[in-house]
Amino acid sequence: MNLKDEIKKLIKLQEIDKEIYQLDLQKNNNIPQKINELKEQLEQKQKEFAAFKDRINRLELEKNNKEGELVQKEENLKKARAQLYQLKSNKEYQVKLGEISSIEADISCAEEELIGFLDRIEQERANVKKEKENIDAESDKIKQEINNLEKQTKEIDQKIKELENKRNSFVGGVDKKIINQYQELLKKRNGLAIIPVLNNNCGACYMSLTRQKINEIKMYDRLILCESCVRILYIPEDLEL
Ligand SMILES: [Zn+2]
Repeated sequence: MNLKDEIKKLIKLQEIDKEIYQLDLQKNNNIPQKINELKEQLEQKQKEFAAFKDRINRLELEKNNKEGELVQKEENLKKARAQLYQLKSNKEYQVKLGEISSIEADISCAEEELIGFLDRIEQERANVKKEKENIDAESDKIKQEINNLEKQTKEIDQKIKELENKRNSFVGGVDKKIINQYQELLKKRNGLAIIPVLNNNCGACYMSLTRQKINEIKMYDRLILCESCVRILYIPEDLEL
């Protein structure tokens, strides 16, 4: 195979490799990054829900304290009422009565407070239930997206495999040295190793090429690289492409 034909093969090869390169990029960078973002979102949702539940727990705890205090106050009331009948003087009796009515007022305050608490807890529970439904629905959606992305990864793997097979059946006949040089450049130059000359400029970096350079390319004696971006150059008109 002469160099002209080998260059033609490289051009076709690069079309396949470009596709593989893009798929690899998608599979190794874009998709994992998206999956990570989604997983972070999922964690955030779970944290939000935990904070919600924490708030209810704190309210419950406070409610229990208030209930304990109320029981204590009712005990005090009972005690004060029992003491009432043991008192001898009217003055002591009046003082005790005052004490009792103050405890009663205190209790009714505490009861009201407790009712307020129970209302708040009930409200919070309803909120939590709603929030849980929201979070579950959003979590399901995120999980579904992650599944889709994982499925996409598998599809990409399959596609890459097919392209690699196509590619391998294609390289036959091309000098191994040329293939190696091309592959080396492909890796270093982000999937773009062979570039057309357009109006005497490099088609990748647009550096203007000297008359001598153009002649060197036209000799088809060896691969000629752009001095600026270091890619293999070819002249499309010359290859009848
Ligand atoms: Zn260049």
